[in-house]
Amino acid sequence: MALRNIVTEGDDTLRKVCRPVGEITDRIQVLIDDMIETMNEAQGVGIAAPQVGVLRRIFIVDIGDGPIVLINPEILEMSGEQEDMEGCLSVPGKAGNVKRANYVKIKGLDREGNEVIHEGTELLARAFQHEYDHLDGILYIDKADEVVDAEYYDEE
Ligand code: ZN
Repeated sequence: MALRNIVTEGDDTLRKVCRPVGEITDRIQVLIDDMIETMNEAQGVGIAAPQVGVLRRIFIVDIGDGPIVLINPEILEMSGEQEDMEGCLSVPGKAGNVKRANYVKIKGLDREGNEVIHEGTELLARAFQHEYDHLDGILYIDKADEVVDAEYYDEE
């Protein structure tokens, strides 16, 4: 495994719509391992492939219960509303208040290529929505009321 550089805001890579993954090759497995390591090193609760410069529909979320890898994710249901401070490894040192759905049901492939469905509320639901947005070139700062210095908030 290896750490990868995290692409930061201002780089076009973060604004592109990512392509679906076809075959889950060894190269994709290495990418996933590297994304997990990079996310852990940066103490993030999620990371999407474009954040390490790869325009593929893959993200990882880990809110403390171990990494959830989702390939070609698709949001099936969203409901309710929550509002909280959010950050992003690609927007270092900043945070902003973002309204999100409080519940998300999402499907995708795990790293073995099995179809999986996850449900989440609160932080997990927020992380799914945040990472999913990255795959469509959307950053939380597009949705935040205002973006402030993040000294007191964990980055996502
Ligand atoms: Zn992010």
